[in-house]
Amino acid sequence: SVVRERILRQRSLQMHEKQQAWQESPEGQKMLEFRRSLPSYKERDALLKAISENQVVVVSGETGCGKTTQLPQYILESETEAARGAACSIICTQPRRISAMAVSERVAAERGEKLGESVGYKVRLEGMKGRDTRLMFCTTGILLRRLLVDRSLRGVTHVIVDEIHERGMNEDFLLIVLKELLPRRPELRLILMSATLNAELFSSYFGGAPMLHIPGFTYPVRAYFLENILEMTRYRLNTYNQIDDYGQEKSWKMQKQALALRKRKSSIASAVEDALEAADFREYSVQTQQSLSCWNPDSIGFNLIEHVLCHIVKKERPGAVLVFMTGWDDINSLKDQLQAHPLLGDPSRVLLLACHGSMASSEQRLIFDKPEDGVRKIVLATNMAETSITINDVVFVIDCGKAKETSYDALNNTPCLLPSWISKAAARQRRGRAGRVQPGECYHLYPRYVYDAFADYQLPELLRTPLQSLCLQIKSLQLGSISEFLSRALQPPEPLSVKNAIEYLQIIGALDENENLTVLGRNLSMLPVEPKLGKMLILGAIFNCLDPVMTVVAGLSVRDPFLMPFDKKDLAESAKAQFSARDYSDHLALVRAYDGWKDAERHQSGYEYCWKNFLSAQTLKAIDSLRKQFLFLLKDAGLVDRNTENCNKWSHDEHLIRAVICAGLFPGLCSVVNKEKSIALKTMEDGQVLLYSNSVNAGVPKIPYPWLVFNEKIKVNSVFLRDSTGVSDSVLLLFGGNISRGGLVSCLIP
Ligand code: ADP
Ligand code: MG
Repeated sequence: SVVRERILRQRSLQMHEKQQAWQESPEGQKMLEFRRSLPSYKERDALLKAISENQVVVVSGETGCGKTTQLPQYILESETEAARGAACSIICTQPRRISAMAVSERVAAERGEKLGESVGYKVRLEGMKGRDTRLMFCTTGILLRRLLVDRSLRGVTHVIVDEIHERGMNEDFLLIVLKELLPRRPELRLILMSATLNAELFSSYFGGAPMLHIPGFTYPVRAYFLENILEMTRYRLNTYNQIDDYGQEKSWKMQKQALALRKRKSSIASAVEDALEAADFREYSVQTQQSLSCWNPDSIGFNLIEHVLCHIVKKERPGAVLVFMTGWDDINSLKDQLQAHPLLGDPSRVLLLACHGSMASSEQRLIFDKPEDGVRKIVLATNMAETSITINDVVFVIDCGKAKETSYDALNNTPCLLPSWISKAAARQRRGRAGRVQPGECYHLYPRYVYDAFADYQLPELLRTPLQSLCLQIKSLQLGSISEFLSRALQPPEPLSVKNAIEYLQIIGALDENENLTVLGRNLSMLPVEPKLGKMLILGAIFNCLDPVMTVVAGLSVRDPFLMPFDKKDLAESAKAQFSARDYSDHLALVRAYDGWKDAERHQSGYEYCWKNFLSAQTLKAIDSLRKQFLFLLKDAGLVDRNTENCNKWSHDEHLIRAVICAGLFPGLCSVVNKEKSIALKTMEDGQVLLYSNSVNAGVPKIPYPWLVFNEKIKVNSVFLRDSTGVSDSVLLLFGGNISRGGLVSCLIP
């Protein structure tokens, strides 16, 4: 170990010298200058001192002040500078994979290095790490997984947990584990970073850990609420005429678009009018939660955004626009709509970008880069652009006021993924994004009274999501009794949620009656997917039909590749129906669509195929790469023979695939009763449920299966099943897991 120590010290020195050489180069100096201009630089010494003197430190500071990119670097620099012999190993967790990747790339660039030298990253199924990597950005899930095999984090010197204000489930979980670990590892340092000022909560959780705040500077941002926006649109007739003129100047294609727009004009006008009426009407109404449910912006959503975007794009003042949307589906459909717009879809005037998790890095760079002169950058993003990603030149923000968040109804044991109102803190955060480089403007697409009724902060995820994966992880980490463990959380979840999760794991056979991990449970905990999807993969391997099952699981964990464009819904639905071949399964339709695409790819016509069939090539590619990673994981876990041919012997057998899907999705089950003119569907928890219109089972006259299994149900006004596969009685009996528990099925039998 003396030799090892000497080698490490030498490498440390080399790293330090290399870094100094870079800092003296012209580019390096420029970068250093930029880094020194960040507000966090002034606090550098104070931060390092606090970290060396305390085991836990809580750091807060406005987004963009340099927490994520700078603080880990300060530690790295001071450690290598001191050449302390024992090499440091810093882990910095991020709540999302995209931020882990983007941030590591940025930090490496700031150090004049390639990724995988001193800075690396690791996210689910992907990563970059080298011999000298000392600073590792990873998702919180990855660190939890590491704790699975290495309970005391041997060799790690610093753990930095970023974005703790978001209160993600994994972060809250990690904090419980780390709190228990700290006394066993007195030299380990824990740094918690937060964008908001509610640091006391975390500080007191760790016995009064010191709090440091990085004071930041932002320009004032002018906030417009819906009523102000509508005031401005009094000019709208004028505005429309300008759009029309614009259309006439251009080619006939543009004119055609302008014509289409003119048709839509009336609908925009009426949408705006409706909104105005609603706003006026309710302005003085009671400011209660009730007013939130009355106000339904979905009906005006896209057209209003389009309208405000036109308003901004016509301004003299340069500056990028950041639009906060609820989710990927919305972003895609809005992008389609805007691209058909004569002004907003004109690439010589507007650079329209979408910002999402599985984006390629070349595309990512466009988001951060300055566009050409005279071109306005518009970025459509989800709430991830609230804090984890900073786009520097944003001057205008449009905030739709909602974010898709998982919520969980413990009483009905129903997970919901719904766009719901954001908190006041989040709205403030979104607004703040406009004031980074100069005074900005923020357009909140909801009335002021709605804002006033927002909650102050968002509920922590631990209190609003199903806890199945988490409970499985607690068991596989051997952390003792699940309920006892979770009672030590920052804000412990409801006992009923915990009970439901344990019961679910028992139904699918991952835990036994005494809450001990079964063989299946142990295998499931090794796969970084939801337990039900993991179960499907394992059974797919056992029953020799892994190929299609991997497609199903990848599809369920990425997103639906079937596109449903806003104005071509019917065409898109019938395109999807072609893949269903009367087998009453969205999952099998997905398998066919994917296989067809693979085939087309082989003949270089993948793109055409997607276009013709309303499929997202990007999603199919993501599914493709996920499939490869699943196979790797399954081999790694010893669940699949290295000789994989064996696993696909029955891949063409649809009955078997259906059975495996049933095994995975159970107890996501609903009963089917074919009535004379309609079909009645019922689940145990919700009673009557409906199918999403883009399911292949929606609108069919009859479903010749007594049951449907589904992955996702969503509560809007009624409960909707997003995806479904028909299964027979015998399949349910044989593959439906522990049916006897809770009389699940018997109460559904009509
Ligand atoms: P914080 O974590 O406090 O929100 P960051 O460390 O992420 O702040 O960012 C600090 C600054 O670094 C940002 O204000 C921005 O100017 C710059 N920055 C961060 N990421 C990038 C990037 N990918 N490209 C260019 N500049 C970036
Ligand atoms: Mg940050």
